[in-house]
Amino acid sequence: MSLQYKDYYAQLGVPRTAKDAEIKQAFRKLAREYHPDVAKDKKKAEEKFKEINEAYEVLGDATKRKRYDELGANWKSGAEFRPPPGWEGFPGGRSRTPGGPGHADFEFEFGGTGFSDFFEQMFGARTASHPGRSAPGENLSERGRDVAGDLMVTLEEAMRGAQRAVNVRHAVACEGCSGTGRRGQRLCPTCAGEGRVSRSETYQVRIPPGVTEGQRLRVAGRGEAGTHGGSAGDLILRVRLARHPDFAVEEHHLIYEAALAPWEAVLGTHLSVPTLDGRVNIKIPPGTQNGQKLRVRGRGLPQRAAGHGDLIVVARVELPVQITDAERALWEQLACVATFKPRE
Ligand SMILES: [Zn+2]
Repeated sequence: MSLQYKDYYAQLGVPRTAKDAEIKQAFRKLAREYHPDVAKDKKKAEEKFKEINEAYEVLGDATKRKRYDELGANWKSGAEFRPPPGWEGFPGGRSRTPGGPGHADFEFEFGGTGFSDFFEQMFGARTASHPGRSAPGENLSERGRDVAGDLMVTLEEAMRGAQRAVNVRHAVACEGCSGTGRRGQRLCPTCAGEGRVSRSETYQVRIPPGVTEGQRLRVAGRGEAGTHGGSAGDLILRVRLARHPDFAVEEHHLIYEAALAPWEAVLGTHLSVPTLDGRVNIKIPPGTQNGQKLRVRGRGLPQRAAGHGDLIVVARVELPVQITDAERALWEQLACVATFKPRE
């Protein structure tokens, strides 16, 4: 299997020395530009959106960024990538179950999950669990291993649910021998007696509304084929919510930071804020404090049981950096008459 190196720094347009804040800012800018809901060419934007999300998933996480940086700066984007020795078995990386006697060591490749094979190899949940043992005294048949990978889900998809075509290259039962490994008295020539062959297959995976970070979507029987007639393992996709330029997620609630001018916070105002389902108008009451939370009920992500989480608007009072002479005169006037004494 050939992997292509991904230059995450180039994708976000930041230098390798970029500070965390710079990376976050670059991501938010690009995520706004390529958000599938606003872009003209939706298909292209979606690809780009997932690319920058993958880049931010790595560079926006100190541990992942460190591991990525350990690869060094000499890799060219798109170059054929082979992980350096010692990378297998890293936490979060691919762990390969060693193939026992009679087990071909099958590789898994995923397509359509939103993450690149490079990401899956370096940071993904891709694993194969151990096969279930047959009952003692039974024949050689073993249940196939489960195949696991990460599935990037945008908040819009988590909101409305979606269908995704996921392509998996894995072991399936050999058709030449119906998975038994034998044809009559002889070994099956198609699979050399293994009972399984490696093949690429596309499955439709349903993403139900209200999926949460880390939730596992199990597609029964779509993992690796069993040996000698054993049943197939499952395909398990771990949900990773894509970062959104506007919202953070806490359980089923969406968090939105609303920047306010000092006078808006003091005097109160009306504000139009985004949700995943159009904009809503909210009232900022007079005397709103920095960091104060305003709750818009039912405008968050759907919950599996029933209803929706909330949209939580966090007030962020911003102060002007530069002011005009006229403004300065007014602030000075305010300073003279103000009864507000923050240090008393
Ligand atoms: Zn066969």
